[in-house]
Amino acid sequence: MKKLFISLLILFTLTGCTLTPMSFDNDASSQNINTSLVCAKQIDLYPLSINEANPPQEAFNHYLKKLKEYTTNNIIVHETMKLSMEEEKVNDFVKNYGDETLHIYDLSKKNRDRFLQFIKQTKATKNSIVMIYTPQLFSNPEEKKRLNGRLFQHSYHPHIMAFNPLNINDSPVISDIQAWKIVFMQILGYTLGVPANSDHNKAGNCTRRECVMYPKPDWRAVMSVLLLNGMPYDFCHKCKAELKEAKERCIKQPLPLIISNTKEKQ
Ligand SMILES: [Zn+2]
Repeated sequence: MKKLFISLLILFTLTGCTLTPMSFDNDASSQNINTSLVCAKQIDLYPLSINEANPPQEAFNHYLKKLKEYTTNNIIVHETMKLSMEEEKVNDFVKNYGDETLHIYDLSKKNRDRFLQFIKQTKATKNSIVMIYTPQLFSNPEEKKRLNGRLFQHSYHPHIMAFNPLNINDSPVISDIQAWKIVFMQILGYTLGVPANSDHNKAGNCTRRECVMYPKPDWRAVMSVLLLNGMPYDFCHKCKAELKEAKERCIKQPLPLIISNTKEKQ
C-alpha cells in the first residue's frame, strides 16, 4: 500500500512537472491588459448584495489580496449596498444593470432612490468595481444556463461583475471557499485582461494547466498542483508576467483606457 502511494506520488509529481499546455485548435486569441485598473492609483470596491446573498469573508480576502498585488495597495471597500426584491425580478435586474440598459429599474420607490444614489456614487470615483452577489445568475434568461460568476461587457465605469453563491456553493468535490476563490480569481483575470498574448490564450482562457484561468478542471493539474502548491488560486507565470510588465510600463508612461472583453464562468 505504502509502495503504491509513493509510486502515485512520484507519478503525479512528475506529471505535474511536465504538464503540456492545452492545444489551440485554431482558436488562439489575444486581448489587452486592462491598464485603467493595473495603473490605477486608487480602486473603489462597491459590494451589492441582493436578497442577502454574500461571499465567504475568507475568499473575499483572497480576492482583495490578489487585486492589490496586481494593481494598487490603495483599495477602498465601501459599505455593502443591500437590496431586496422578488426572486423573479432578480436576474433581469442584474442583467439590465450590468448591461447599463438605461431604463427605470423595476424597484420599489424607496429602493430605486437608494439604488440611483448608489449608481451616482460608483460613477463619482474613477476606477470603481461593483461586485454583485445575487441568488440568480443566468447567461440567458430563456436558456436558464446557470453561471457562477460573470463580468459584464460594456461596464467599465464602473466595472460590474456578478456572483451567485447558490451556484458556487454547489460545486462538486471542492469546498465552498475553494470554489469561491477560484471563481473570484477567474473573474479578476477577465477583468484585468489575462491571458493577454495569443501564445497562451485560447478563446480568452489560458492554455497553461496550472493557471486559474484554465477553462475547466483538469485532474492532472489539480493533483500535481495540490501535491506541490495546493489548489490553483492564482495565475500562471505567463499571465503574471503580462500583468507585471503592464504595471512597469504604466509607471513609466500612462496608457489610455482599454476595456477587456465579456467573459462568463459557468
Ligand atoms: Zn495563465
